[in-house]
Amino acid sequence: MAKLQVKKLLVTGGAGFLGSHLCERLLAADHDVLCVDNFFTGGKANIEHLLKHPRFELMRHDITFPLYVEVDEIYNLACPASPVHYQFDPVQTTKTSVHGAINMLGLAKRVKARILQASTSEVYGDPEIHPQSEGYWGRVNPVGPRSCYDEGKRCAETLFFDYWRQHSVRIKVARIFNTYGPRMHPNDGRVVSNFIVQALRGEDITVYGDGRQTRSFCYVDDLVEALIQLMDTADDFTGPINIGNPREFTILELAEEVMRLTGTNSKIVFRPLPADDPRQRQPDIALAESKLGWRPTTELAQGLERTIRYFQQAL
Ligand code: NAD
Ligand code: UDP
Ligand code: UDP
Repeated sequence: MAKLQVKKLLVTGGAGFLGSHLCERLLAADHDVLCVDNFFTGGKANIEHLLKHPRFELMRHDITFPLYVEVDEIYNLACPASPVHYQFDPVQTTKTSVHGAINMLGLAKRVKARILQASTSEVYGDPEIHPQSEGYWGRVNPVGPRSCYDEGKRCAETLFFDYWRQHSVRIKVARIFNTYGPRMHPNDGRVVSNFIVQALRGEDITVYGDGRQTRSFCYVDDLVEALIQLMDTADDFTGPINIGNPREFTILELAEEVMRLTGTNSKIVFRPLPADDPRQRQPDIALAESKLGWRPTTELAQGLERTIRYFQQAL
């Protein structure tokens, strides 16, 4: 029987929502996992169940500073992802994306590691084409409140492609669309966690704008599966590649679904739409389907039910 090759993997942002699920899956595949996090939005509670695992190691570290470790692959997820959190200290957000990418790429170059970047659908901004495919260059405001995140992530992509062209670093760029699931921060302000927490507490459900803007929601397990498959693609495949669930919903439809599944008595209230809030978002995942043979399998109702169960216990 072929011996499993144990890889040493670095997950930055590993104590966050997506990172903690990724660490769990990589450990289950028998790899060594080094989780690096500064605990800005993530926390030990997300990885508490992994701390005793013999192949798991946790390091408190901010990736805007250099990091010298020996690893085979790097999943670079460190960065606050919710608008409330990334706008809290926007300069630090840009530093995390840009200085963080430089440091992690410098590390990948030195140890000849593969490196995967958790990029985002925000690189498309408020898009004029629908659904969004990887060839689209986006429509992003460079000077607005979302720019620290959007432009930071765009610059990180630029750095990844220049380290690939200039230094032959083996890169993978994933453009992640809205993803939800257990371990989202209850106060991070993202729509799925907000609606579920509001519904469970019997508070008003806050729909921003008229609620007709759209998003396409991917369950975390589907997303993590795609990231691992992407890392395992041949060296000549760099992406960028969209990872998300193409099923599109209006925010009002999401609110109604959460209300139905929780059986809440909460009422919908309308609040002002935040600046530069994209009107529509839906991934074209043809590339992921052909390159990875991947497509998400979790329906919204199913994923929401699991997430609701998590918040029922967490609150
Ligand atoms: P999250 O906020 O739960 O996790 C981010 C983690 O990074 C946290 O644990 C935080 O403490 C850590 N972190 C932040 N700055 C850091 C720094 N300078 N050094 C070290 N650690 C740092 O968010 P998430 O939803 O898990 O997102 C993970 C990644 O995926 C992010 O890069 C995000 O941009 C990307 N992404 C997420 C989504 C989504 O819908 N969840 C969509 C697109 C892209
Ligand atoms: N770096 C790091 N870990 C390493 C190697 C490099 O954090 O193992 C950082 C280093 O601090 C540098 C950055 O990555 O600032 C970019 O490295 P690179 O070798 O590309 O550039 P240079 O060192 O020439 O500036
Ligand atoms: N949103 C909302 N109510 C909330 C939180 C968010 O209507 O309590 C809206 C928000 O304006 C946006 C969508 O839901 O149109 C998704 O917001 P989120 O912050 O989750 O992610 P992003 O805007 O980055 O896609």
